[in-house]
Amino acid sequence: MYNILQEAIVCVNCNKRIKISIQFSFGDTWLFRYKIGDTIRWGGNDKGIPNLPLVKVYGLAEEAVCPFCNTENLKEYDIIIKKDVIQVSRAMESYEHYLSSANEGDYVILSG
Ligand SMILES: [Zn+2]
Repeated sequence: MYNILQEAIVCVNCNKRIKISIQFSFGDTWLFRYKIGDTIRWGGNDKGIPNLPLVKVYGLAEEAVCPFCNTENLKEYDIIIKKDVIQVSRAMESYEHYLSSANEGDYVILSG
């Protein structure tokens, strides 16, 4: 199970804003839908550790094809979470970070 971050990105080709749904496994994973600024819920099918000072979570967009121009946009994102509050999503730096984290590839603790 996973959760979903609802985000808007700018298409690399036509520069229009498009909505994407980014799946991630952190917190109580039960298909909860989040936006930037929301606080992660805990107390169910938990993945990860609550209240970490800074963590990045692997995010995979369900669909990133632009509905206006059909361009395939980036699907892999780092979701930055600070003390359970979702700060930002950005282009994934490196999947190697997740593979070497020993957290099932789901997240990487950045400090604390
Ligand atoms: Zn486009």
